[in-house]
Amino acid sequence: MKQKIVTGITATGKLTLGNYIGAIKNLINLQDQYDLFIFVADLHALTTYIDPEQLRKNKKDIFALYLACGLDPEKVTLFFQSDISAHSELNWIITSITNMGELSRMTQFKDKTQNIVKQENGTETIPVGLFVYPSLMSADIILYNPTYVSVGIDQKQHLELCQKLVKRLNKKYNLNFNEPKPLISKIGSKIKSLQDPFLKMSKSDKNENSSIYLLDDPEKAYKKIQKAVTDGENKIYISEDKPGILNLLTIFASLKDITLEEAEQHFKNKNYKDLKEEVGILVKNFLESIQKKYKKTLEQIETISKIGKERASKIANENLLNIKKAFGLK
Ligand code: ATP
Ligand code: MG
Repeated sequence: MKQKIVTGITATGKLTLGNYIGAIKNLINLQDQYDLFIFVADLHALTTYIDPEQLRKNKKDIFALYLACGLDPEKVTLFFQSDISAHSELNWIITSITNMGELSRMTQFKDKTQNIVKQENGTETIPVGLFVYPSLMSADIILYNPTYVSVGIDQKQHLELCQKLVKRLNKKYNLNFNEPKPLISKIGSKIKSLQDPFLKMSKSDKNENSSIYLLDDPEKAYKKIQKAVTDGENKIYISEDKPGILNLLTIFASLKDITLEEAEQHFKNKNYKDLKEEVGILVKNFLESIQKKYKKTLEQIETISKIGKERASKIANENLLNIKKAFGLK
């Protein structure tokens, strides 16, 4: 039997090139060898307010883009998180064995609450969903009892908490779930914002110029690359001190399927203008090819998500039942 991998993308916004390079691309390469469970995390999108129409659109786009990027529904199980009620049900059970201290230490929670503004009377409104996000993420994983979870480096801390919770679950309730191991792509696990290369590219970033969206007008995407923040040196080489250049090199290497060192070599005697031109053209061509397929895959969502729902609920419900029995709920 093939080993299982679970992964998801939150439906908070439009998919970015960071999501593709750091997450989706990896899955395409893994779909032959592993049994992949891939979902659109629509429940996770509720942790901060999202317009319902927007959420509906994001969900569909992400699903269709997964397919357009090359995931084969014959090989992988592709579904919407909220189609399977076991996610919400196990979430409560897992939340109940998670400690406040564990959740308070999560850097994503700290980062995401930093921008929440105090109202005039001094109160801050922090949605509890944002705080308990890692518990739901753990439930999402445990339901499929995978060997691996494919994540970007930004989710590593959440996965470590999930491992801890699995250990607790197994020990306290005499269960035997796998402690899921992270699967992080070697190249491009953290694509940076084009406007501030010290931050990661994020689909919830408010500045449209920071991210390349997979559904961006390709010409506009080209222009965003030309405007990317770099540094004043005009020499191209790999260095952590040159995050803007490193980011463009990483995008180039990933889309060309070459190593970072090969990309560095390619641009050895060239300047920043050349780099931006080549990366811009590459990104533009890439988006054109994805978007052509996306138009077709949009029409396949209903059929494929129904099959995905059936396959995923079967295994999710089995695991949920075992946990409910172990907790005395059954
Ligand atoms: P949000 O701002 O809503 O958190 P996001 O862009 O960070 O959106 P997620 O839904 O949190 O996207 O993550 C989806 C997947 O994409 C995860 O595996 C995550 O690690 C990966 N990922 C997200 N951003 C990047 C990035 N900039 N570079 C590489 N991988 C990324
Ligand atoms: Mg994120």
